[in-house]
Amino acid sequence: MIRALDDTMGVKTTKDFHKERVRQGSKVSIINLGCARNLVDAQTILGRLQRHGHRIAGLDTSDVAIVNTCAFIDEAKKESIDTILDLIELKKKGKLKKIIVAGCLAQRYGKELAREFEEVDAFMGVQKLDREWIPESVSLTPRHLAYVKICESCYNRCSFCIIPAIKGKFVSRTMESIVREVEQIDSQGVKEINIIGQDITAYGMDIYRGKALAGLLRKVAAAAKNIQWIRLLYTFPAHVTDDLIETIAGEDKICKYIDIPLQHISDKLLLSMNRSITAQETRDLIRKIRVRIPGVYVRTTFIVGLPGETQDDFEELMQFIREARFERVGAFVYSREEGTPAYDMPGQVPEEIKKRRLDALMALQREISKSLQKRFIGRTLPVLIEEKESGTADVYGGRTPFDAPEVDGGVYVHSQRPLKPGEMVPATIQDAYEYDLVGKAL
Ligand code: SF4
Repeated sequence: MIRALDDTMGVKTTKDFHKERVRQGSKVSIINLGCARNLVDAQTILGRLQRHGHRIAGLDTSDVAIVNTCAFIDEAKKESIDTILDLIELKKKGKLKKIIVAGCLAQRYGKELAREFEEVDAFMGVQKLDREWIPESVSLTPRHLAYVKICESCYNRCSFCIIPAIKGKFVSRTMESIVREVEQIDSQGVKEINIIGQDITAYGMDIYRGKALAGLLRKVAAAAKNIQWIRLLYTFPAHVTDDLIETIAGEDKICKYIDIPLQHISDKLLLSMNRSITAQETRDLIRKIRVRIPGVYVRTTFIVGLPGETQDDFEELMQFIREARFERVGAFVYSREEGTPAYDMPGQVPEEIKKRRLDALMALQREISKSLQKRFIGRTLPVLIEEKESGTADVYGGRTPFDAPEVDGGVYVHSQRPLKPGEMVPATIQDAYEYDLVGKAL
């Protein structure tokens, strides 16, 4: 299914906002069978997974299961096969997303097993485990998509946010290491990369003593041969430069999509939240982005119920949303985060008022989104196919360059010929819902 939408996911709080900005690894469980050598391998795997940000969980709460198999005697083989079958059952029931079979059975009978058990996502024999155990294989990100993290922690100190306190000093990666990673990803057939970080617009402020994102993006675009879309996620409004806007406008492979969390428009709240931008500067910036990047899709987020938010402040925000007509809006209810300056601020807003404001904001945005989506009817757009829609004969779920993975809607594509995940097809848009489109593959 195409991803659900912001306002159908229940009430999201600023805690969810923090979670969204810290990309979590997969939850992985490992079932170890056989001898002491397998136990050592399993421990190695666990250590590597944790170092790559994946979390170890019990089978009942994990997304990915690894079974480390044994093929020593018939009884051991049977136990391994039975375990694989049990895992396949769980996957069929939707309780698991990925199964990886590792160890001796995979080493000896990998090809035969792959033919027999289509539901298994990867087989890794012991030699592969020794040489190149790749924690990416447990990642739930599809093969045609990759996330490239360019910096750690955050340069800013928004008063409602705990991230800088948790993650420590802001650190940029060097351009060389990022470009190397992009070249490697490019050679693996990835079609879309998402450049991520808590605030990618601060990239370089530490190691290059100035904002270096635009320069980095030009290098990344030059390195992208197979990659078709480069998407920027999480730009901080106060750090968006003219050079960055021109680079997004001028580089064909950079999606004309900007994710720019504004959080509020009231000057009083922008100041108390330490956002380093005024309401007028925000309005000017959005205008400039729209003029210089024709057809750009703007995604933003707002927080309702910040400490000190009055009904007038909220009305000001609603008026701004009416005028700016953002293509995508995510909204969060402020939740007090211990250890942040905002936690002790006066004027905390009662929960029912926050909830009422959230509902009103999202109802407004639904109307705006519906009318903006209609602009696409009759147009032909490139669509990156994600998956076949279950229960249909010829419908596939995909995304346009204007839909970020996991957060935006997408396109239901009807196709007479079978399509594969990762294929990019032109589709003529025939219908539009509030967030999703319906189209026909050409
Ligand atoms: S920009 Fe502000 S809200 Fe975002 S991660 Fe940094 S401190 Fe938190």
